[in-house]
Amino acid sequence: MSLSNDLRTYCIIGDPIDHSLSPAMHNAAFKMLKVNCTYIAFRIGKDELEAGLASLRKINIAGFNVTMPHKVTIIPLLDELDETCIKIGAVNTVNNENGKFKGYNTDIHGFIEPIKRRKIDLKNKTVLLIGSGGAARAAITALMDESVGKIVIANRNVEKSQVLNDICKRQNIYTELVILEDSSKYASNADLIVNATPIGMKGEDSILKAEHINSDCVVYDLVYRPMQTGLIRSANEAGATVIYGYEMLLEQGIKSFEIWKQMKAPSDIMKKTIAEDFIYK
Ligand code: NAP
Repeated sequence: MSLSNDLRTYCIIGDPIDHSLSPAMHNAAFKMLKVNCTYIAFRIGKDELEAGLASLRKINIAGFNVTMPHKVTIIPLLDELDETCIKIGAVNTVNNENGKFKGYNTDIHGFIEPIKRRKIDLKNKTVLLIGSGGAARAAITALMDESVGKIVIANRNVEKSQVLNDICKRQNIYTELVILEDSSKYASNADLIVNATPIGMKGEDSILKAEHINSDCVVYDLVYRPMQTGLIRSANEAGATVIYGYEMLLEQGIKSFEIWKQMKAPSDIMKKTIAEDFIYK
C-alpha cells in the first residue's frame, strides 16, 4: 500500500542522515513547482539495508537518494542500473519505475558541472586529487571523460588509492600515487586541485598553504560545510579560481530531481535553500 494515492514520497537513506541538506533542498523545489510530493530523511543503518529497501518497496516510494554507507552495497539489491552506476560502481539516486527500482549516479555530473559551467578545459592538464574514497571515485570517473593529462592521487593510506589507479590505467590516464603529506610538493604543478577528504569539516588548517598553490590553478574543495574551508582560504589567498563543495551538492541534487520528475529543476530555489542553511546554522 502506498503512503497516499496521490502524494509522491521521496527520501534519502543512509546513516548518519540527520544533517542532510537534501530534504530541505528537494522540499523547496516541490513547493515551488506546486507538485504533491514530499521528501524525508530515512535512517537505515549499515546492516539494515535489505529490510529498509523492503519497507520502501512496500510503501511504493517514488524515488530516493542513497548516501553513506550504502552507495556500493545497494547495487545487487536493485532491479536495474543506469550506465552511470556501472561506470562508477556506486549509486546515489534510485527511481521507482513501474515498481522496479532503477539506480543512477548523479555525483559524476554533480562533480563536473561546476567545472564545465566555468568553461574550464582540462585537456592534458595535471590534477592533484586528494583522497581515495567515494567522492574521489566520482571525481576520477568524471575526469576520465575530460582527456586530462595526469592525475596525482594523494591519500593518507596509499594502498587504498590502488583501486582508483586501476580505473585510470584501464583508461590510459597517467597517474602517480603519493602520500597525503606530500600533497604540497605536487600542488604547484597542478592545474586542478580537488580535496575529496573530510579535512576542513572541523575547521582544521589546510594541508596546502597559499604558497603551494599557483594563481592560475583551480581549487575545488568537496567539503561543503563550512563553506570557507582552510583550503578555500589558501586558494583565495593565492589568487586561484575556487569551486565550492556546495556546488557539487546542488548539481547532483538537481540531476536527481530531474530523473525523478522528468522536468527542469528549480535550481535557484534549491541553491537559495542550501545557502540559507549555511547562513543560519
Ligand atoms: P570516504 O569514502 O569515507 O573517503 C574518505 C577519504 O578521506 C579517504 O581517502 C580517507 O583516507 C580520507 N580521510 C578521511 N579522514 C581523513 C583524515 N582525518 N585525514 C586525512 N584523510 C582522511 O568519504 P567520501 O564519501 O569520499 O567523502 C569525502 C568528503 O567529500 C567528505 O567530506 C564528504 O562530505 C565530501 N563529499 C562532498 C560531496 C558534495 O556534494 N560536495 C559529495 C560527496 C562527498 P583513507 O583512505 O586513508 O582512509
